[in-house]
Amino acid sequence: MDSSIIGKIEKARQYAEQKDRVNITSFAATFRGNHDEYNVRYENGAWRCECHFFATRDRCSHTMALQRILDEMLTKQPQPASTS
Ligand SMILES: [Zn+2]
Repeated sequence: MDSSIIGKIEKARQYAEQKDRVNITSFAATFRGNHDEYNVRYENGAWRCECHFFATRDRCSHTMALQRILDEMLTKQPQPASTS
């Protein structure tokens, strides 16, 4: 391994400890719930989940779990997705 990549690996190790450097702007995921699997999306600070609970409340156990997992990497003040 050349020396420049060794330096990058060390830097990556430090960055990985500092999650607030990362600001997630959008992603898509599948979430395996207890009964079914759901597609969850995050775009421009807005959540989407295809589960029935989310359809009426703009949040659900899947989006809230991902908020906990991703924590400070998410845009600071996430807006609930519009239902219109
Ligand atoms: Zn959901």
